[in-house]
Amino acid sequence: MTTVVSWADAAPLALAGRPVRLVPLVLGFEPISEAISLRGGSRFRHLLEPVTAAAVEFERGWVLIDGGFDPARLRDPVRRAAAFTYENYLPIVPPGDPLVDQIADAGLEWDALAGALLSHAHFDHTGAARLLRPHQPLLMQRREWDHVRTAPSERDAFLFRDDFEHPDLTIALLDGDVELAAGLRALDTAGHTPGHQSFAVGLPGRTVVLAGDAADLRKNIERRVPTGSTADPGHEELAVRAIERLADLDAQALTDVWPSHDPEWAPWREIVEGR
Ligand SMILES: [Zn+2]
Repeated sequence: MTTVVSWADAAPLALAGRPVRLVPLVLGFEPISEAISLRGGSRFRHLLEPVTAAAVEFERGWVLIDGGFDPARLRDPVRRAAAFTYENYLPIVPPGDPLVDQIADAGLEWDALAGALLSHAHFDHTGAARLLRPHQPLLMQRREWDHVRTAPSERDAFLFRDDFEHPDLTIALLDGDVELAAGLRALDTAGHTPGHQSFAVGLPGRTVVLAGDAADLRKNIERRVPTGSTADPGHEELAVRAIERLADLDAQALTDVWPSHDPEWAPWREIVEGR
């Protein structure tokens, strides 16, 4: 069974030094209406959005932020048909195992992975959990874990509890903003989901904030408009607070906030065009 612990009781992440490199990853694609990614956007216009993640390399060790889909769920026609019963939703995973392959391309070793950070539990972000060993915890907010456990319908909550169930998996639960390691901080950006979080990575000379789905697109940040959906309809104000927080960070010198699903955002586009 999965082991669940509080971050406060968990061993520190097996990292040394500070972040030295951020490796952008594009692990799949999904057609999404603009209205889902941008409150007030068009329901007619659809974007082919990248499903993104990132590896953060430290002087010793590295962490993963999000993990795309579990490719096995998409490759098996029966599982796929049973899982993705949403109108107009056609997730795409490129050949191979994009997460495993891109980590290898980046020259990173799985054994040196200290842990995986999860922005939120939607199934286009949870695909790393299948690869984790007991000494590589999955870090999520306690409120997100409560949401996973209690959502009345997995389908309506866009998550699969299966993704969080395997004997080698340890989940460590965070409460709000947490300093995870030198130069790595979890930021409470609840709203899109009850325990959504973003991550600030202090690289040499600049800070990158990985927004997760608190900002699908750069437009969310530039216009200070949240994404179009919240898991709990009562959380719209929280989503506004989250995007305000991210836009304020983006306005700081030497700080960039990266949206999770923007096909035009250069770090993601460069991967797509370069391979
Ligand atoms: Zn999401």
